[in-house]
Amino acid sequence: MTRREPLHIVIVGAGFGGLTAAIECRKRGMNVTVIETYPTSQTFGDIIDFFPNGGRIIERWDKGRVGRDLMRICINQGDRFQYCKADGAIIWEEDWILEPHHYWRQYAGHRGQLHKVILDYAKEIGVEFAFGDRVVQYIDGGSTTTGLKPSVVTASGKTYVGDIVVAADGPRSIARQQVLGLPDTKVNSGYAIFRAYFSLTDEHRKNPLFADFCDPTTDMTKLWVSKDLHMLVYTWNKGKDIGWVLTHKDTEDIGESWSFPGKKEDVLACLAAGGFEQKLVEMVQATPEKNLVDYKLVWRDPLATWLSPSARITLIGDAAHCHLPTSAQGGSQAMEDGVALAVALDRAGGDVPLGLRVFERIRYNRSHVTHMASTSVRDGYHNVDWDGDAIKENPQVLNIPRPEWVIEYDIATESEKHFDHLAADVRSYRPGTIQELALPAGGDYGVDSRKVGHQPKTEGK
Ligand SMILES: Cc1cc2nc3c(=O)[nH]c(=O)nc-3n(C[C@H](O)[C@H](O)[C@H](O)COP(=O)(O)OP(=O)(O)OC[C@H]3O[C@@H](n4cnc5c(N)ncnc54)[C@H](O)[C@@H]3O)c2cc1C
Repeated sequence: MTRREPLHIVIVGAGFGGLTAAIECRKRGMNVTVIETYPTSQTFGDIIDFFPNGGRIIERWDKGRVGRDLMRICINQGDRFQYCKADGAIIWEEDWILEPHHYWRQYAGHRGQLHKVILDYAKEIGVEFAFGDRVVQYIDGGSTTTGLKPSVVTASGKTYVGDIVVAADGPRSIARQQVLGLPDTKVNSGYAIFRAYFSLTDEHRKNPLFADFCDPTTDMTKLWVSKDLHMLVYTWNKGKDIGWVLTHKDTEDIGESWSFPGKKEDVLACLAAGGFEQKLVEMVQATPEKNLVDYKLVWRDPLATWLSPSARITLIGDAAHCHLPTSAQGGSQAMEDGVALAVALDRAGGDVPLGLRVFERIRYNRSHVTHMASTSVRDGYHNVDWDGDAIKENPQVLNIPRPEWVIEYDIATESEKHFDHLAADVRSYRPGTIQELALPAGGDYGVDSRKVGHQPKTEGK
């Protein structure tokens, strides 16, 4: 089918999934409008990291210029990723950059600062934004006065009509109920995180216990593990910025909100219970309380489909597959969704339902495996038998898994490669479940998959 007019894509949510979809669709000539509740990027939290499958997408934007802008504010002198017991004894370490070609594909730093760079790029290439407005209603095409086109209505009373609506509205997605007709089944995962980001000052530099955090020559990427607790600390910007995340058990009911101001005394109680070393205690004490967030981690079961009945609205990113931080893939998987969506829409030549059905088949199984790994990785951290043989023989079970089949994946190339046969399946109504019809995930998160790339390979940096 030949497309005459560019498609108009309405995207709800300017998180990393929504932004990537917007950029990739715009780069393929589509018109894009993004609606976002929050007014600015700076409201976007503390730390995030993108591993090479996500970073590869950024590397291609504006011939690497966006990546270079990001690298200035990211961890760019982290040599080793260290995994420790609560008392600081190092159990396992590996290169932060596993392979030289990952250097421009791995980005970690302050979420809001990274977001701003990507947002600015989206604006530069002509993506339209409506910040500070909230979508309250999704309307699938075909069943309303808007004709066949899907639309959304915002709290301010505006209606946005598109050829496609993309619900990139994150873990709290209302599209799950309104588009897919599902009950609101968010449940507490049984865990919550305390999270904070702050700038280190000359006062901190005087404290000998802060020497590692303030080291201007090496960025820190380090994980401490204890029973039912783990804490990640990153430093960057030549020892001036620090972000930390402490995951702990929490079974409070999740109501309307699951992000609250955190209390230092609660964090310190967790550190004491887990026997964490003194420098972490001092780091928490030094954290401005206003920067401390108590964030309940929500678990969402996998969905049977991400598409509306007319296949003109799709969910993407955390709205479709809500990753916990322990997967270390939620952001990158949301970005992969954005690319696959844009390729499939482009290749479908104006046949929106075909494009969205192929998109779902490209992404379903792969994102399912990383989604489910969120809990298995966390349980691995929290149940280490420190006296047993397993940890001595396989200390790499403590690592953030970065298996090759996940991090070396090139979503743009794979989407292009598989479009035709997946489209033929859609057109011929090939029978089968979504799992059978979708591309295979490509691997799993078994212990063997964690043995990838542990040799020092920093020479190409
Ligand atoms: C503490 C923490 C640490 C994490 N660390 C990592 C990490 O290091 N690496 C990684 O890959 N992943 C990480 N993740 C997961 C990752 O953040 C998410 O998987 C990823 O951000 C999902 O992107 P998204 O665009 O789908 O959703 P989100 O980033 O949640 O974006 C959704 C956007 O939609 C907006 N929105 C929602 N509803 C509406 C509405 N009705 N109208 C308009 N706008 C709306 C929201 O304001 C938000 O901006 C972490 C998660 C947490 C909680």
